[in-house]
Amino acid sequence: MITPLTLDSIGHAPKALLHDHLDGGLRPATVLELAEANGYDELPAIGVDELAAWFRTAAHSGSLVRYLEPFAHTVGVMQTPEALHRVAYECVEDLAADNVVYAEIRFAPELHIDRGLSAARSREIAELAIRFRDKGVVGFDIAGAEAGYPPTRHLDAFEYMRSNNARFTIHAGEAFGLPSIQEAIAFCGADRLGHGVRIVDDIAIGADGTAQLGRLASLLRDKRIPFEMCPSSNVQTGAVGSIAEHPFDRLARLRFRVTVNTDNRLMSDTTMSQEMLRLVEAFGYGWSDLERFTINAMKSAFIPFDERLAIIDDVIKPRFAVLVG
Ligand SMILES: [Zn+2]
Repeated sequence: MITPLTLDSIGHAPKALLHDHLDGGLRPATVLELAEANGYDELPAIGVDELAAWFRTAAHSGSLVRYLEPFAHTVGVMQTPEALHRVAYECVEDLAADNVVYAEIRFAPELHIDRGLSAARSREIAELAIRFRDKGVVGFDIAGAEAGYPPTRHLDAFEYMRSNNARFTIHAGEAFGLPSIQEAIAFCGADRLGHGVRIVDDIAIGADGTAQLGRLASLLRDKRIPFEMCPSSNVQTGAVGSIAEHPFDRLARLRFRVTVNTDNRLMSDTTMSQEMLRLVEAFGYGWSDLERFTINAMKSAFIPFDERLAIIDDVIKPRFAVLVG
């Protein structure tokens, strides 16, 4: 018997997450408690519910630059080793409770040095990623406002990663168009794209409904470049108008390697299961679709091939088989 697709049943499905920010996934209560413990007095609300609502509203801004503003408060309470440990621990607890069986969590060391912890900029962060590569760090990324900050500004860091046979992803094609995707792939050599939604600008739809891919879109599909798509976040930043208008479905039907991600669970008030459900409601996906997106993500993970294969064969496929019936 096929299990109906609901938030609860999707919650039981195994999920793989490639794009989730540590400073965007705190529990509201933890933000309050860490603020109190560390003397941070700039929070915009004093109650858990009020604070949760404030983050949601502030992030739903329609612009990437304004979407990033609430991070001042989460980063503001993450300035001690104890606070970082707690946030990381709770992140894993929350993802495990949602049956996320594999996750890559992004973390920007240079944002957490206000109180004496030390780190520096992109090249130095890349060096940290390599130094800790066998201790849980699997890759490297740049994120933030895109307009005026092309990925090639960090070319030095990407070249360092490549020279160390290491892999990385780049936020591109979210707030800014095709040029940022072109730079990320052609000049920086990104293995994956954070968001990448603007690739639809390189896909023309003919009068008969057939899609005509431009050179860049073709290259990304041919190379099986993974797209780390974050539906709710993309709506909040104004990258797309609504979930129903999200290019996820068009790209999925054209067999681009699309994956489903949360981006910032606190700001988007979401979980992996919620993101999956929103796509199911908008596009009518079934279990086999969700399984494909999950396997897409696991194939695209930065851990070694044999470990990816083991999670796909031993965890994802058997557990989906039960749900599909
Ligand atoms: Zn992101």
